[in-house]
Amino acid sequence: MPTYSNLSASARQIVSGARLPAWLLPFGWPTEHGLPVHAVIQIDNGHVTSVGPAGQQTPGTVASGDAVEALDLAGALVLPGLLEAHAHLDKTYTRSRLGPLQPGLLSAIEATRRDSRLYTREDLRGRAERALEAAAQAGVTHLRTHIDWTNPEAPLAWSVIADLALVWRQHLRLQCIALVPLPLFKSRLDAQTIVRQIEATPDAVLGGFIHTSNEDPVALDHLLTLAADAGFDLDLHVDEELSPRAGGLEFIARRATELAFSGRIVCSHVCALAAKPENEALAILDKVARAPITLVALPITNLMLQDAVAGRTPRYRGLTLLKEARMRDIPVLIGSDNVQDAFCPIGTHDPLDALRLAVIAGQLDNPFDVWSQAICRTDWVSGTPLPNPTLVGLPGDLTVFPDSDAYVWPSAEARRLIRGGAALPAF
Ligand SMILES: [Zn+2]
Repeated sequence: MPTYSNLSASARQIVSGARLPAWLLPFGWPTEHGLPVHAVIQIDNGHVTSVGPAGQQTPGTVASGDAVEALDLAGALVLPGLLEAHAHLDKTYTRSRLGPLQPGLLSAIEATRRDSRLYTREDLRGRAERALEAAAQAGVTHLRTHIDWTNPEAPLAWSVIADLALVWRQHLRLQCIALVPLPLFKSRLDAQTIVRQIEATPDAVLGGFIHTSNEDPVALDHLLTLAADAGFDLDLHVDEELSPRAGGLEFIARRATELAFSGRIVCSHVCALAAKPENEALAILDKVARAPITLVALPITNLMLQDAVAGRTPRYRGLTLLKEARMRDIPVLIGSDNVQDAFCPIGTHDPLDALRLAVIAGQLDNPFDVWSQAICRTDWVSGTPLPNPTLVGLPGDLTVFPDSDAYVWPSAEARRLIRGGAALPAF
């Protein structure tokens, strides 16, 4: 196993022997015995300045006197910093104080509403920081957390977690997303109050909860129009259910196209696609592919909550149509969602755990070379997806898996982190 303790934050690092996933390699990258040749990654002053195949001269010259350090990863699998696309830091780690609960999504929402009376600044900060520490140790460099809003005014958790985004900015990018019940967007005044608070919070995103239990096409149209006019991105909980008549995703795809929506709309869950007749579901995905929409699957919580009836084994997996979406070039991310709260009593803030379950539940092929994108592609949560993703220009943040290979990944959990070109101690 390679050791990294000799690597420090010098001006230039040369990291060789890196086995990068196929999606991160430029067209024409050489192969050997059918596998990509290992990469040499050059990091200057904390940022990646070049990536090339082993055996080719690394571009760039070293001025005499510059400190240069070298690290040979000996073929270890390497990813960028990881993306946690969907978490709930306001609710996390509350399960132990909730007592017995009925199964299902709506019961979990009610239990969380009761528990939120216990939220204090100290309680929220303590639980959120525990989650951030776990995520950072797992290799996460970008985490998006939804935060429950129940009134037009921001909840206490919003300011607590927004403050943590500043405290933690050296370690990871923390984005706050307002999880607003759809009916609050029906009133223009309420919607404007919410939007003003989003705008006042750095790096925050507007979101909402779209479900047949709170169907309101007028409010949803208002939300989309308002975001389109303001040039906002959106991050929505959509169709988190197995009702074949759930129509949130189709509505959003159609209106986003009509509005020529310029931002990105992240739609999480969309479990209902799995319950619709095949032709209908695929026709909706065709519309999604024409809109600026990213889908996020949340297998841990979906497997726990969907088709949940006391005393009965669930028959449905609740996973959205991952493969069919990717076949249409729709960006698909995988997130952890709820961790040890009313929605899911178990779980971690390690994106690999969610991906590992998705690989099994969704029977996903080529997890490392193809599906590792689902926990890395930060360009899929805002703006326009990059046609040719690359490490070049990004911070020198690498997630290294020294004990694994592309056939069995993500079985092994051991990993080492390189941040800004400097190795962190093993954990
Ligand atoms: Zn969620």
